[in-house]
Amino acid sequence: MEELQNFRPTKAVIDLKAIQSNVSNLRKHLHSNVHIIAVIKANAYGHGDIEVARAALEAGATMLAVATPEEALHVRKHIADTPILILGAVPVNFTPYAAKYDITLTVFSTEWLAAVRDIAPTFEKTLNVHLKVDSGMGRIGVRSAEALREVYDAAQFKNICVDGIFTHFATADEEGTAFYEHQVEVFTSLVNSLPVKPRLVHAANTAASLVKEHVQFDAVRFGISMYGLSPSDYVAHHLPYELKRALSLETEIVHVKQIHAGDTVGYGATYVATGDEWIATLPIGYADGLIRGLGNQEVLVGGVRAPIVGRICMDQIMIKLPKKMPVGERVVLIGTQGDDEILIEEWAKRLNTIVYEIPCMLNSRIPRIFQA
Ligand SMILES: *Cc1c(COP(=O)(O)O)cnc(C)c1O
Repeated sequence: MEELQNFRPTKAVIDLKAIQSNVSNLRKHLHSNVHIIAVIKANAYGHGDIEVARAALEAGATMLAVATPEEALHVRKHIADTPILILGAVPVNFTPYAAKYDITLTVFSTEWLAAVRDIAPTFEKTLNVHLKVDSGMGRIGVRSAEALREVYDAAQFKNICVDGIFTHFATADEEGTAFYEHQVEVFTSLVNSLPVKPRLVHAANTAASLVKEHVQFDAVRFGISMYGLSPSDYVAHHLPYELKRALSLETEIVHVKQIHAGDTVGYGATYVATGDEWIATLPIGYADGLIRGLGNQEVLVGGVRAPIVGRICMDQIMIKLPKKMPVGERVVLIGTQGDDEILIEEWAKRLNTIVYEIPCMLNSRIPRIFQA
């Protein structure tokens, strides 16, 4: 069958110029010898990994980072040559493919590296690795100078090359600096304990790259603010340059009707009209990631706010219009319309979560439409 898609008007519009602006401003903010690793895990935080990667590379990033083997292979299929680092732990049986497809892996434990050594002589090509130091995040990595020396020595092995070393901050987005500085100290002393410093030393995530200049090392891992979002309120108030938001979420009215006092809307008949009201139906629901906890959220239509009424259904929601409007009228769920804007922060607050979770939540049923 021919490619038939995107008949439903619901879509996430991704502004690639915004991504490029966020990366090229970081490029200017950093020392010129510091690499930018564009973090595009989880389908680029829901923004579309291949398109975001290309935009980021064009704007000055030189390396990509993902979370899983599947993400790395998907990116490699579309983008040759650029180094791709998998930040998480991967199974040993993936390592031959990592070597073959030039995917850099994270050495996160001595046991894992010992198991990789058992099969490394059979690799088709050299496997590049970055050693991971757990300086306080408590997630993955080696935790002492002895353990680091052990993995460093064990990695001096046929078909294995130590290309980098890194750590991850737990509190870089907070105002307090004591724990953050403790992590910097632990990491620096462990790196300095090695006989030879690996090519790429990196520690900073978005928060540290933007607000803590002295930890740039050789590279920074730039995630959330590539998409125009701040890691925390603290960072939002201390940004070195203005971020541009990349994602908006839009749809169109598919049905409109007038209801009257006493008429109800939705499952459970929880919404009861108090007078004559214009109700519109939108083709988006919890199966798209618009979870039921957003039941009290507003949308923008005709340049003003309109509330969701009744419970969010699997594929549809109903909104109360300020006045009669036609089928086909454009509705913005995240983004700007007229003089108003609905921010991802507003959704995050309503759901008692962080901004990171919101674009990740919008699943693959919502097409990503790219604006170059
Ligand atoms: C996700 C992740 C990042 C990016 O974090 P942001 O706060 O989005 O910049 C960096 N490093 C590691 C190890 C990560 O897992």
